[in-house]
Amino acid sequence: MTDPNPSPDRSAPNRAAPVYARMAVIGGGLIGSSVIRAAREKGAAGEIAVADANPVHRERLKELGIADQVTADPAEAARGADLVVLAVPVMAMGEAVAAAAPGLQPGATLSDVGSVKGAVAEAMAANAPDGVFVIPGHPVAGTEQSGPDAGFGSLFENRWIILTPQKRADAPYQAALERLTDFWLRLGSRVELMDERHHDLVLAVTSHLPHLIAYNIVGTAADLEEVTQGEVMKYSAGGFRDFTRIAASDPVMWRDVFLTNKDAVLEILGRFTEDLQALSRAIRWGEGEKLQQLFTRTRAIRLGIVAAGQESAEPNFGRDKRG
Ligand code: NAP
Repeated sequence: MTDPNPSPDRSAPNRAAPVYARMAVIGGGLIGSSVIRAAREKGAAGEIAVADANPVHRERLKELGIADQVTADPAEAARGADLVVLAVPVMAMGEAVAAAAPGLQPGATLSDVGSVKGAVAEAMAANAPDGVFVIPGHPVAGTEQSGPDAGFGSLFENRWIILTPQKRADAPYQAALERLTDFWLRLGSRVELMDERHHDLVLAVTSHLPHLIAYNIVGTAADLEEVTQGEVMKYSAGGFRDFTRIAASDPVMWRDVFLTNKDAVLEILGRFTEDLQALSRAIRWGEGEKLQQLFTRTRAIRLGIVAAGQESAEPNFGRDKRG
């Protein structure tokens, strides 16, 4: 690791030297502004620049004062940076790298936070200049909100960041990977290395399919004629409300996720549809034992998620307390 004296005391991590002297973030929305806030709070980056294509977001980023430089030009932000993080929708990644390329210096690390890794890794490799270390990444953390105001510095604490490094064993690349690992550890994340194709399959089942189900069930409820919208809202605490939160997620981001992770999503969706057919059959034939066995197994999975610290054990996810 690059810090010769890593402090185990996470309450005072910003006394350590920054991991990167200058960081540029391309896309200052929910995730990009959270990376900026977290890096600032933890002292993980010295100077911070942000480039965003949206003029309203740029104004807001200036008002928030979380970055030293706010610009429309990714190359200007990337100039002199030893870490450049792409935080734009998945299908805009290639274009963002091409725009940042004139400012990217040899020896800099180029990473991202995109929810899909195969397609993004390809787009990054195709557009990055020689001598830049391309290390794709995905923080498995987020909310259904978008934009600079939605970000917060503790978003990545105790959450996984999956890095999908290129298959390179050379020492400079490995050193760049260690440094990026240090950066995310400093932000409070847990770091996992994974092959990008495997990442896309794992995320298809843990994130992409649940979002698709939520979008579908909310759409189905909206189209029902025998049940009024008033009834849907009134009785939403019966389970529907949790789907509506997920189904409120950013439409552009999720359109891109499904279009770029098509194969893995369709594979998992096929398995899901078969299992749903089996459930439907069990209901039709009154096979209570089968239903109960599945529900018992799934309850244990939920308890496992809570035990792993990835969810609150409080009733209603602690949401009542948050108001
Ligand atoms: P967001 O809040 O919409 O922020 C993206 C920002 O980038 C917006 O200000 C957007 O402007 C701007 N932008 C779009 N294209 C650009 C370009 N070519 N150059 C510069 N700026 C550009 O989105 P987000 O939720 O932070 O998502 C960013 C990335 O994080 C996505 O790849 C997503 O897959 C990934 N991710 C999201 C979550 C989550 O929960 N949201 C979790 C993990 C990873 P406009 O608003 O005008 O488009």
